[in-house]
Amino acid sequence: MTSHRRIGIDVGGTKCLGVVVDDGVNDPDDVVAETRQPTPHDDEELLDVLAGIVAELLVEVPEVASIGVGAPGLITLDGVLRSSPNVPDVTDLDIAGRLGERIGRPVAVGNDATCAALAEWRVGAGRGHDDLVMITLGTGIGGGLVLGGRLVVGRNGFAGEFGHMVVDPYGPPCPCGRRGCWERYASGSGLAQLARTAAVGGRLRRVVQVAGGDVALVRGEHVQAAAEEGDEGALAVIDEFARWVALGLVNLTNALDPAVFVLGGGLAEGAHLYLDPIQRWFGELLYAPDLRPHPALRFAELGERAGAIGAALLPAT
Ligand SMILES: [Zn+2]
Repeated sequence: MTSHRRIGIDVGGTKCLGVVVDDGVNDPDDVVAETRQPTPHDDEELLDVLAGIVAELLVEVPEVASIGVGAPGLITLDGVLRSSPNVPDVTDLDIAGRLGERIGRPVAVGNDATCAALAEWRVGAGRGHDDLVMITLGTGIGGGLVLGGRLVVGRNGFAGEFGHMVVDPYGPPCPCGRRGCWERYASGSGLAQLARTAAVGGRLRRVVQVAGGDVALVRGEHVQAAAEEGDEGALAVIDEFARWVALGLVNLTNALDPAVFVLGGGLAEGAHLYLDPIQRWFGELLYAPDLRPHPALRFAELGERAGAIGAALLPAT
């Protein structure tokens, strides 16, 4: 009997998460098996961990139709990880070839945010929409897109690097080597930086208190916590942050005209704080806002499993 189950593994900054799903998965709770391991920072160890996860999942589910891996960074169409922010010591790692050799079967490999887009489109917040842009707002910004009902990865597999769209050529430096990339403002670390700047100006007393009294320790979650209490300074930072998020979404709308944006990553947990201000700024910044439908704005539904579920759904090689 042919198996309709698939293995997907997401290589995260701190952990590798492996899942088994049914091919016809239509609910995130349809995950059949799951395991996790810390992410190592070395080629051989990473391949060992990935092979170990596959072996462990195959003990629980002996027959699977395909195996997929999602990883952050530039991934070529034939499954080579060119460079990755989460595993900085790893460059030009042929995950598809070398992992495939170790486990004796083909492995599909894709960018993690592309995998998240695939998962949210098939199973999550973007279900039913064939023109969808996924944005993952974490430490940086990842992106993936489905246009006309097809997953779009570009000529080389590198489509969706929205975080490095430059929104201010004179802005702060980005680890990619350029200045003023969108992710310097609209990611989790961007939110923290906006907050620290405001805190140095003495405008965020409650947020600094929540962070333990040290401006340098202010992070996004402290802003969120103070905003939940209704702190005006924190809400002002959230509004400024929302403007930067909306600016990127407006640029993407001008380029791609999607039906829906799905916002994921760690910030999705504070969705209720961000939704209204992002929508308001989006309306103010959009070209010809009264003459067009606005794309829907949704927050991701699959949480930390999105990348792994999407990796499992990658087309088999
Ligand atoms: Zn950059």
